Amino acid sequence: MTTLITTQDIARTVAAHGLPEVLRRMVAAIEADFRRWPEFDKVARLASHSREGVIELMPVADATHYSFKYVNGHPANGRHGLPTVMAFGVLAEVATGRPVLLSELTLTTAVRTAATSVMAAKLLARPGSRTMALIGNGAQSEFQALAFHCLMGITTLRLYDTDAAATAKLQRHLRTVPGLRLVVCHSTAEALQGADIVTTVTADKRNATIVTPDMLAPGMHLNAVGGDCPGKTELHPGVLAAARVFVEYEPQSRIEGDVQQMPADFPVTELWRVLGGQAPGRLSEAEVTVFDSVGFALEDYSALRLMGALATELGLGRTIDLIPEMADPKDLFGVLMRGDAALRLAA
Ligand code: NAD
Repeated sequence: MTTLITTQDIARTVAAHGLPEVLRRMVAAIEADFRRWPEFDKVARLASHSREGVIELMPVADATHYSFKYVNGHPANGRHGLPTVMAFGVLAEVATGRPVLLSELTLTTAVRTAATSVMAAKLLARPGSRTMALIGNGAQSEFQALAFHCLMGITTLRLYDTDAAATAKLQRHLRTVPGLRLVVCHSTAEALQGADIVTTVTADKRNATIVTPDMLAPGMHLNAVGGDCPGKTELHPGVLAAARVFVEYEPQSRIEGDVQQMPADFPVTELWRVLGGQAPGRLSEAEVTVFDSVGFALEDYSALRLMGALATELGLGRTIDLIPEMADPKDLFGVLMRGDAALRLAA
């Protein structure tokens, strides 16, 4: 039998533990898996592009578990009443190939993306960072905001979105968070003034230029989340040229990240090497660092295992017969001959 975890199950799990605690555990889970990076069989995700967006499959495996995520990115989905990003995923046991978990991953992706941003910022942002600019105030934004507030000590958020209603929604959700000051700005340039960390999490299927070199200040860390697809970027190439750039999985980031705009030999560092002490993180107070986030399958592997465990501990989820149960595993046809559903064989 396979366990099904629904959106409601994930919402209940987050409510039971509190989002800060789930984010904290998610950072720990992703860090632990990134530390054993060489144990994973990795591949850049498989993308099917259309004019409106992209649909992607993201597989990864170690010796015991295989996982994949189905995820889309359709920036104009709002006009259909749908989110830009929707996802679900499967965790299977490698020894038999049996799918053990089928789970929602839309909410979970927002949690894991914010947790990955924090994992990178712990290695790259200046200690003592207190102010973050948050450009793009859509579906992912509150998760990023709370992760940086609860786990990185951010106390002021400088908000900007081209859609004022998105910023108003974020304010409505977060205005009662103790110790978090929200400052609404009228441009990206204004939002970046005085920011220690800059999170860009916009959705636009083009080479948007959200941050330009003149907006940078010494020591800034940029957490660039929204540029995650060929032809869909957020940073001016001059921003990348002025910074040291860190990525998840280089073969995928070269295709999808903001670094797609740079020559193939433009230097990037994979985060797992910094976590493992094999490459340096921030080198000086004045250096500008960029985490060119695109989202990698290993984060979803960690997220599926963590959220599956937390939900089942709470008695959530239900078993479904996704795979037929058979006394004789060779008798697949017999499944059609059972009970009321018995098959008529005559033409
Ligand atoms: P969303 O559509 O809910 O929100 C995006 C927001 O960006 C909207 O409110 C929109 O008005 C705003 N925006 C667009 N252009 C802007 C601009 N020039 N300046 C300021 N704001 C602008 O989307 P979402 O679910 O929040 O996702 C945001 C982005 O993050 C998407 O591009 C998505 O593909 C990406 N994403 C990346 C990862 C990752 O792991 N790196 C994970 C999830 C989502």
